[in-house]
Amino acid sequence: MALQLLQQLCFSTPLKQAVRWRSVSISTRTIMCATSTTTTSVTVPSTSKSTTRMPHVDPHVLLGMSEKDLQQLAIDFGEQSYRGKQLHHLLYKTKAKDIQDFSHLPQAFRNSLQEAGWKVGRSQIHRVVTAADGTIKVLLKLEDNRLVETVGIPVEDNKGSCRLTACVSSQVGCPLRCSFCATGKGGYSRNLQRHEIVEQVLVVEELFNRRVSNVVFMGMGEPMLNLKSVLEAHRCLNKDIQIGQRMITISTVGVPNTIKKLASHKLQSTLAISLHAPNQKLRETIVPSAKSYPLDAIMKDCKDYFLETGRRVSFEYTLLAGVNDKVEHAAELAELLHSWGSGYHVNLIPFNPIDGSEYRRPYKKAVLAFSAALESRKVTVSVRQTRGLDASAACGQLRNEFQKSPLLATSDVLEPLSVASSV
Ligand code: SF4
Repeated sequence: MALQLLQQLCFSTPLKQAVRWRSVSISTRTIMCATSTTTTSVTVPSTSKSTTRMPHVDPHVLLGMSEKDLQQLAIDFGEQSYRGKQLHHLLYKTKAKDIQDFSHLPQAFRNSLQEAGWKVGRSQIHRVVTAADGTIKVLLKLEDNRLVETVGIPVEDNKGSCRLTACVSSQVGCPLRCSFCATGKGGYSRNLQRHEIVEQVLVVEELFNRRVSNVVFMGMGEPMLNLKSVLEAHRCLNKDIQIGQRMITISTVGVPNTIKKLASHKLQSTLAISLHAPNQKLRETIVPSAKSYPLDAIMKDCKDYFLETGRRVSFEYTLLAGVNDKVEHAAELAELLHSWGSGYHVNLIPFNPIDGSEYRRPYKKAVLAFSAALESRKVTVSVRQTRGLDASAACGQLRNEFQKSPLLATSDVLEPLSVASSV
């Protein structure tokens, strides 16, 4: 999943700058801690145990709650249930950030909520960077001072309609350490709570001043290692923010037993598998966690996923020059896909260079040859256009510039530094 934040969507027409520019003053912090990027072997963490030091859901956070739960909350505070509907509107439509901004609610109710420890659950914007193509990357500073990335990608399609995709993170950092990924190099600190995922979409809507049409779980982290929060956030995005399930994509490099779990929810969202190699041996060199989840097992789970949900799985393939981008690799990939079914879609992603990476971006000629080799073998394929290359575009790249190690939590490891950025 999660690979290169901005590289995801395929756009054939040039982007019109449908973005409203505005100035954002921010304060950033510099990093006083050492990096921890030397680990080479990776075991997929168990999903049965929590990998986070935070509670799964902060019980006093409003964002992420359903209308029904908010109505019950209002009743619990001695209010009528319609106050819960108002709360719902304030959170998801008005996008109020603080309980005292709930101007539709009686002051006494607002005070009671606050006195009982309730909060909205919105984070501070720490840094905003805009690419020439209109893509905006945002760093949010979470309550425990950790930084998480979100990207907003505006796209105008051939018919002139405009989409806005939010590429959201599911973890702070990532424990899987895929060899090409900036997030993997930055280490891992914790899972995001559901409101910390939902707020990323609200932030993108605010920065672009319009509704998000698509959400892709392709930011920092492996969504399947935080499936509970991801599913809760998915519910909220679909029901409360009203983004269609088919407009949501959950991407994974593969975590044993989780595809089955996801399938049991019968979502109409797209499952994207970050494959990156046509065979197990090569895949293990690119995705170390693949050792715990052989390719055949993933392919079988994908087939079962399709049988269970009726939704075809798509495969993401990052092209790394001289590593996995040869026509022979394409032929092997086509063979692999055909042996497990038909109709699979492959998204080719030319590698987006990151600092210190051993990999290079493939030549355009190699990308076209790879794509043609798949097409000639009746595999449908798209080549993703890289977005926001000039804005530290790769997954985790922006965050890494500001917080080298997410494993250190307290604010006193960070030293203030003033920066102003325009959006
Ligand atoms: S290291 Fe994590 S965030 Fe990066 S590509 Fe691998 S799974 Fe995705």
